[in-house]
Amino acid sequence: MKSASSARKSELLSPSEHIATGLHKIGLAIRSQAWQKAGQRGLTPTQAQILILLETREAQGAKTIISDAAAALALTVATTSDAAAALTAKRLIAKQRGAQDARAVFLRLTSRGKRAARRAALWSDFLLEAAQTLSPEEQGVFLRALVKMIRGLQERGQIPVSRMCVTCRFFRPHVHQDPEKPHHCDFVDAPFGDRHLRLECPDYEAASQEAVSRGQTTVKLGLYTQNQRREGGKS
Ligand code: SF4
Repeated sequence: MKSASSARKSELLSPSEHIATGLHKIGLAIRSQAWQKAGQRGLTPTQAQILILLETREAQGAKTIISDAAAALALTVATTSDAAAALTAKRLIAKQRGAQDARAVFLRLTSRGKRAARRAALWSDFLLEAAQTLSPEEQGVFLRALVKMIRGLQERGQIPVSRMCVTCRFFRPHVHQDPEKPHHCDFVDAPFGDRHLRLECPDYEAASQEAVSRGQTTVKLGLYTQNQRREGGKS
């Protein structure tokens, strides 16, 4: 009878609660894999995250100070400083004084750190494989929902603001008739679909606050679904 009672309780959960439970399970898998894979390479998950972040930012030509890394990874400056000190001791990163301002200390990957960052980035391949089991249509729906949830968390200050299409000044949502590619990126001047909405784009530039308040950006329009368009509803 215990299993029948558990099943009954599960039926009583709302769809939102089921989604939260599913995300929690994925979160547990991510944490477990992050510890396991980083541990095999003699790193903590935080150290691995810093290496991956530095590799991404260096590829974009951006320099990183401790507080940038802390904000991007939603960590405290103290935790980030400790992890950076451990990575420095392992000779995976080096600290560099700013040319303009000697008080600014930038973190940069050493050659050894670059190799470690590339290996560390592979830890999430299990998620990629899971995402590849979805059909193209499912990927589009899932990505749009994910962007919407991330945007909501960003607005409440619960995760760092990332470089996503929906807050980018180059993003023009639903300007094309083609249901496969309804959006337009002004940066590359090309149409694209929900499946290619970016969560981290090197060409991103934040839309102005004024545009956001006028409701002309993307923040709302980007989440405007096909059905709502057909029905003339508002997002
Ligand atoms: S520049 Fe990048 S973030 Fe901005 S709309 Fe184009 S693809 Fe999206």
